[in-house]
Amino acid sequence: AGSRTVAMVTGANKGIGRAVAEELAARGMTVLIGARDGRRGEEAASALRAAGGDVHALVLDVTDTATVQDAAKWVEERYGRLDVLVNNAGITGSGRVVPQDAVDQVPSSVDLEMVRTVFATNVLGVIAVTNAMLPLLRRSPAARVVNVSSHAASLALTSDPDGPFAALLPSAAYTPSKAALNALTVQYANELRKDGVLVNAVAPGFVGTDSNAHTGHLTPAQGAAVVVRMATLGADGPTAGFFGEDGPLPW
Ligand code: NDP
Repeated sequence: AGSRTVAMVTGANKGIGRAVAEELAARGMTVLIGARDGRRGEEAASALRAAGGDVHALVLDVTDTATVQDAAKWVEERYGRLDVLVNNAGITGSGRVVPQDAVDQVPSSVDLEMVRTVFATNVLGVIAVTNAMLPLLRRSPAARVVNVSSHAASLALTSDPDGPFAALLPSAAYTPSKAALNALTVQYANELRKDGVLVNAVAPGFVGTDSNAHTGHLTPAQGAAVVVRMATLGADGPTAGFFGEDGPLPW
C-alpha cells in the first residue's frame, strides 16, 4: 500500500510501454508492468527495480478476460486503488506499419481475420482493461487514463491529400483501430468527467521499436514523453483530448 501513486502500463515489457514505465518509476510512482508473457514482464520489471524503481510485473493479455480480471484483483488486494492507467498494448497486424510493407492492410484486399485481431487488441482490449480497472480508478483522488494512439488515427491528417500522411499506404486495420480508439477516448472522457478522471489519447510519433523493425526515428524515451505528460496531468488538465509531442492534434 503506501501513498505512492500507482500506475499500470499495458504492454510494458518492451518498446514505448517500457519507456513509459521507466519514466513513471523514476518519478517515484509504483509501476505495474502488464505483459502477456510473464517471463518477459518479469525481466523488464527486475531491470527497472535494479535501477531503483518500485516496479512489479503482472500477467495481462488484453484479449484474455481472465488475465485482465486477475490483474484487477491483484491491484485491488495489494493497493486498493489505481491512479494511472496507460493503455499502451497494441499491434500493427502486419510485420510493420511502414508504408512500403503494409500492403496486407490495403482495404480492397485486407484479410478480415487480420482486421478482427487488430481490433480485438487495439480497441476491445482497451475497453476490457479500462472497465476492469475503473472501480479502482474511481477510488483514486486524481485518476488519469492515457490511450496510446497514433498520428495515423487522425481523420483530419490522413484525409488531407497534400499532407504527409497521404503518402502512407491505406490501411483497413491498424489505422481505423486507432481512429476507433480516439473515438472511445472521447466517450470515456465524457462518462468520467464528473468523476474527475481525465482521459486522453496521445500519438507518440514514429518510434523505433519491434513494431516497425526499428525504422522509427524517435527513441522509446522520446515517444514516451507525451504519454508521461498526460499520465501526470494536474487537476486542471485537459480531458477528451488528442495530443502529440508539440501539443493538440486534429481529430
Ligand atoms: P512494441 O511492439 O515494441 O510493443 C508492443 C507491446 O504491446 C509489447 O509489450 C507487446 O507484448 C504488447 N502487446 C501486444 N499485444 C498484447 C496483448 N494482447 N496483451 C498485452 N500486451 C500486448 O510496439 P510499440 O512500443 O511501438 O507500441 C506501443 C504502442 O504505441 C502501440 O499501441 C502502438 O500502436 C503505438 N504506436 C507506436 C508507434 C511507433 O512508431 N512505434 C507510432 C504510433 C503508435 P509482447 O512483447 O508480448 O509482444
